[in-house]
Amino acid sequence: LTSTVLRSASTLIAFPTVFSSSRVRYEVVSNYSHLFWVPGSDPSLEPYMLLAHIDVVPAFEADGWDAPPFSGREVDGFIYGRGTIDNKQSVMGILQALEFLLERGYAPRRGFYIGLGHDEEINGHFGAANIVKLLQSRGVSLAFVLDEGSAILDGVIHGLESPVAMIAVTEKGMASVKLSVTTLPGHSSMPPAETSIGILASAVTRLEKNPLPLLFGHGPERDMFEHLAHKFEFPLKFVMSNLWLFGPLLVRVMQRRPDSNALVRTTTAVTKFNAGVKINVMPPYAEAFVNLRIHPAQTVEEVLELIRLTVNDERVKIELDRGFDPLPVSSFDDKSFGYQIVKKTLLDMFPQISVAPGVCVGNTDSRHYNSLTKDIYRFTPTWFKFHGVNERISMRNYEEIVHFYFQLFQNCDTRKLPESHSAQHDL
Ligand SMILES: [Zn+2]
Repeated sequence: LTSTVLRSASTLIAFPTVFSSSRVRYEVVSNYSHLFWVPGSDPSLEPYMLLAHIDVVPAFEADGWDAPPFSGREVDGFIYGRGTIDNKQSVMGILQALEFLLERGYAPRRGFYIGLGHDEEINGHFGAANIVKLLQSRGVSLAFVLDEGSAILDGVIHGLESPVAMIAVTEKGMASVKLSVTTLPGHSSMPPAETSIGILASAVTRLEKNPLPLLFGHGPERDMFEHLAHKFEFPLKFVMSNLWLFGPLLVRVMQRRPDSNALVRTTTAVTKFNAGVKINVMPPYAEAFVNLRIHPAQTVEEVLELIRLTVNDERVKIELDRGFDPLPVSSFDDKSFGYQIVKKTLLDMFPQISVAPGVCVGNTDSRHYNSLTKDIYRFTPTWFKFHGVNERISMRNYEEIVHFYFQLFQNCDTRKLPESHSAQHDL
C-alpha cells in the first residue's frame, strides 16, 4: 500500500526521475521504510550509504506555532514544520540531489544506497533494523554510512570564533536501569525505621550526588578540542592548545554546563519513581528508573557495576531494563575515506567553517548499521539553531543541503583520497 501511495502521490510528482530511472532500484521495507540502490559502473569500488528518517516527534499547533506544524508553509524565507531539521531536510535533500543528478544523465562510478527509515524516533527496530537484515542477507558491505546526528554549530560552543561542522564519529550508549525495594507490608501506625520509599530515595540521592567519573581524554572529545584549538578566542585558544596541561581545568568548566557535561562522562538521570498504595499503608514496594547515556569509553556492564557500588545497599535490587554499549569510534584520520570526502565537500562549500570529529549524545538509526561498515558518520549541514516549537529551516540552508548531497554523490566517485601534501590528482 505504502509503495503504491508513495509512487502515485506527491513523491512521484516531486521526484519523477528517481522513481522512473532504470539506474535506481527502489523497494519498500517493513511496509513504510524506503531503500534505494544505485549501482556504480565500477563494481570494485565499495558502495556507501546515506540515511535519513521520515518519521517525526509529535507537534501541536496549540503550542504556539507561527505556521501549522504540518503545513510546510514558507514564511519570510523559512520553511516551517515539524521535522524540517529532524530529519526531512535530509530526506528531501538527498532525493532532490539525486533527482537533479539523474536528470543530467549522471551515472555514478561508485554505487550507493539510500535508506529512509520510518521509526527512528522510537529506535528504528522495524525500519533501519530490517533494512540492515536485508542488506546483510545480500552480503552487502559499505565503505561508510552517513546519517543525521550532528550539524554546523554556530555560536553554540562557548568561545569558538568560527562555525564548526561537527562530524560525529561515535554516539553514546544507553542504559535504562530499574531500582526496586520490596519490604514487608504493615500499618503506618507502627512503622519500621525505614520504608521502601526511604531506602529507595536514599539510593537515588546517592546516585545524583555522585555522578559517574569524568572520562575526558578517553573519547573523541579530546580530538575535537585539539582540532579546534586555533579557532578559539584567547585565552581559551591557549587552554585548548595545551590540553596536556589544562585538561583537568577544562573538564571542571565543562561539567558545570549540562550540554558540555554530557561530553565528558556518562550522564545519570532519574526519570521515574513509583511507590505507595494508600496514605495509611506501609509501601510494600518502590521502584525507580534511571536513564544513563554512556560515554564512549564505558560499557553497559561497567556502568551497572558503578551503580551497584554507588547505591551500596543490598536491599535495593538493580536490574538492567534495556541498554546498549556506545558505538565504536569511526576513523577520522587522513586515510579515512568517508570522513575526508564529507570534510572536502563541506570545505568546498563553506570555506569559512572548521571541521572536527565529535560525539553524538543522542542515538540515531545508524547504530543498526554497525555490522555493515566500520565507519559511521552522523552529520547534516544544517546550521544549528533550535528544535522545538516553530521548528523551521531557512530556504537558503535547505538549498545548501541539496547542494551538499549533490556534490557528495559526485565526490564519492573518486577511487582514493588525494595523498596528503600532494596534488589532488584523483578528486
Ligand atoms: Zn532524527
